[in-house]
Amino acid sequence: MQIAFIGLGNMGAPMAINLVKAGHSVKAFDLSQDAVAKVVAEGGQAAASAQAAVQGAEAVVTMLPASQHVEGLFLGRDGQPGLLSSIAKGALVIDSSTIAAATSQKVAKAAEAAGIAFIDAPVSGGTGGAIAGTLTFMVGGSNADLERARPLLEKMGANIFHAGSVGAGQTAKICNNMLLGILMAGTSEAIALGVANGLDPKVLSEIMRRSSGGNWALEKYNPFPGVHENAPASKGYAGGFGTDLMLKDLGLAQENAMAVKAATPLGGLARAIYAAHSIAGHGGEDFSGVIKMLQKKG
Ligand code: NAD
Repeated sequence: MQIAFIGLGNMGAPMAINLVKAGHSVKAFDLSQDAVAKVVAEGGQAAASAQAAVQGAEAVVTMLPASQHVEGLFLGRDGQPGLLSSIAKGALVIDSSTIAAATSQKVAKAAEAAGIAFIDAPVSGGTGGAIAGTLTFMVGGSNADLERARPLLEKMGANIFHAGSVGAGQTAKICNNMLLGILMAGTSEAIALGVANGLDPKVLSEIMRRSSGGNWALEKYNPFPGVHENAPASKGYAGGFGTDLMLKDLGLAQENAMAVKAATPLGGLARAIYAAHSIAGHGGEDFSGVIKMLQKKG
């Protein structure tokens, strides 16, 4: 299949590479040349612009940071026309960015008016899952559009869930990430307490992993350096899932909670904790670095 892939960051590049490895023809575009080069090195083709990437594409996959990037790209910004006017009628757009459900619905409506199918398909599983092709997709859209997307999603992920109509994938994603933000802060707090008492972080983590406090951070993404060799914590909190992206997701969860009058006290507290961590200069580092603000210094 001829695929355009736009947004080749920590997640997008490995996802695009998995589509190339599956034998698809992938035209890749990112504002960063270095990001494009990673996909070209694995057999993708570089596109000079988003417009060039979508020429002749049967499917367009986007993996961008936030709502404003997705809306600006597809609907246009600063008087520039949106990408929807360049995509062929009948093509399928798969947006895997984590954004507001309302933005997905707005873009889907404009796409429908242009004869283009749209699904929101945010993911979970981190950069490790993106590289291994084991992501979990949470899809919002029609059954028919999901079935069209499925062969591509299966090359990038291991679990595909149909959450409901357009926007439902995003709602599932912010529920998950609100829980993840709370779990990572709580896990960090527990490890910091143990270490302040002289416990070995590896031993403590293993005890909690096999006890009632066990969770994904303790399984795969330990926030303490050196416990998991491949986790961002062991690489200076580089790569992974940026603190500012977690902050964005926790903000989306709070906005949504206000709209539906839901009580999310721990989600609100987690947002405040990651905001403080970002303000302290760590917004670009992996979110598990939140442990730094909870650790005893010296
Ligand atoms: P990232 O910041 O590493 O990558 C985003 C990329 O988008 C960058 O390379 C940037 O240059 C590019 N970009 C921005 N605007 C663009 C535009 N107009 N045209 C072309 N390229 C543009 O972010 P990421 O970690 O890959 O995350 C992407 C999305 O996936 C976010 O919504 C994030 O919340 C979500 N997500 C991330 C993870 C993770 O572990 N990193 C996990 C699940 C979901």
